[in-house]
Amino acid sequence: MSIWENPEEGRGSLYNSVITNTSKEMMSFSDFPMPEDFPTYLHHTKVLEYICLYAQNFNLLNYITFQTEVCSVQKHSDFSTTGQWDIVTEKNGNRKKDVFDAILVCNGHFTEPYLPLDCFKGIHDYKGRIIHSRTYKTSEDYRGKTVLVVGIGNSAGDIAVEISHIAKQVFLSTREGSWVISRISHRGFPLDMVISRRSTMWFKNVLPQKLAAKFIEKKMNGWFNHENYGLEPNNSLKIPIVNDYLPSQILHGAIKIKPNLQRFTETSAIFEDGTVAENLDAVIFATGYNSVFPFLDNGTIKLDENNIPLYKHVFPVHLEKPTLAFLGLIQPLGPIIPTVELQARWATGIIKGNIHLPPHRTMENYNRKSIESKIRWFGNSRHLPLQTHYIDYINELSEEIGISPNLSLFITDPKLAWQVFFGPCTPYQFRLFGHGKWQGARKAILTQWDRTLKPTRTRNLHKSPERRPRFHYCILLSFIAVMAGVMFCSQCISKADYL
Ligand code: NAP
Repeated sequence: MSIWENPEEGRGSLYNSVITNTSKEMMSFSDFPMPEDFPTYLHHTKVLEYICLYAQNFNLLNYITFQTEVCSVQKHSDFSTTGQWDIVTEKNGNRKKDVFDAILVCNGHFTEPYLPLDCFKGIHDYKGRIIHSRTYKTSEDYRGKTVLVVGIGNSAGDIAVEISHIAKQVFLSTREGSWVISRISHRGFPLDMVISRRSTMWFKNVLPQKLAAKFIEKKMNGWFNHENYGLEPNNSLKIPIVNDYLPSQILHGAIKIKPNLQRFTETSAIFEDGTVAENLDAVIFATGYNSVFPFLDNGTIKLDENNIPLYKHVFPVHLEKPTLAFLGLIQPLGPIIPTVELQARWATGIIKGNIHLPPHRTMENYNRKSIESKIRWFGNSRHLPLQTHYIDYINELSEEIGISPNLSLFITDPKLAWQVFFGPCTPYQFRLFGHGKWQGARKAILTQWDRTLKPTRTRNLHKSPERRPRFHYCILLSFIAVMAGVMFCSQCISKADYL
């Protein structure tokens, strides 16, 4: 049973309508592109189908023990020499203890709801229905009702929109506001394939932060003016949510955006601006999740909400031996599957002793600097330690593993280099070089747009397909033209000097 199927207590859960907010080419495993007929953004059942295909293809099912609970993970008595762990598991009511050489913790961090009810004055007087978004499945219960959704993460946006189609009125309360982006970019291309590019990331990294913030603000308001819709975030660098329908539901009046809550009464919610949502039938707290690891104790690793001192989001800084790694305890501004795959390649490299961690002091300094930089970029929030810029992070890991694409590709294979540096940063790029190189990677990169367009081109118009955005071609051509001009002028000047 996985997060992609029906929920069970203590496990992740999804509402029925969840669609991925990263596109299929960006979110696939690096050596296993999704079938070309899969839609560009996937319903959660399709994601499960893909994971099953992957497991079959690499014959993984033989290596997995299902239906087994890990009850405890503790250091073995001679941990400081061997780095081994005592693991207690339970299957069909039978407990057993085994010794393992290394542990990869991959239990996800969206299982335990974060529901800070005491933050909301009067909530205990409120007589209507209260749920956390984790238990929301479909909108049917809310037909004709007045509903308040609290929070403005992806869950809040999706749930508010879905309910608003059949509810009497939906209110959405946010304390900070948020940018809202669509899955669909200019001319209908998947947004993440257009913006998640090495060239764009390079641009972000060389711009002074204030200028980058202005640039982001302008881009974010390109779709609609967030101020007019009550959504503009207090911090212009705040991470956006993905929602194709929220602005139109606000335009219809089906959703009303409200500020932070002041208090509840028996039947209503009063907001900080003094306005009131009356005759409220239900409140849905889409307030996020806590990271929990019930099988680990605080003696093994210091667990303080989301704030776990992990080097590069993976290795606990203070363990004597690097044999415990956390995978997926991260919120990248991009797809999670390739991020975790690279974490796994790095972690296994370290556990096997092929790659080495730096001294503790270096890791601590790295973490301190990384948090400072995150606060500058994302502002302080509960999730701050988990947040990262996708391409910056996967580049760091790929350099550690020794699989980064390098600029010499422009000489050896310019066509491929063009796609790698100016095209979407798809996961296949991390199978071109070094350990784990995959022969199919080049072809996968050169055909990624075909697989993207195939599922929507279901009515053949006998025209040559528009394959991909041309924007970067224009930039490169302009760049080459400027460089040629500069070189020509400097040659003329030096000739003139010589004469
Ligand atoms: P989330 O991203 O953690 O968002 C929680 C929201 O609750 C934030 O807006 C936060 O406000 C607000 N909040 C927390 N405490 C609050 C308080 N005391 N008062 C008022 N507001 C409060 O949680 P989520 O939306 O459930 O998402 C969980 C994860 O699942 C995320 O990674 C998300 O991207 C992912 N997800 C993906 C999809 C999809 O792929 N389609 C759909 C849903 C969720 P602040 O912003 O002010 O902190």
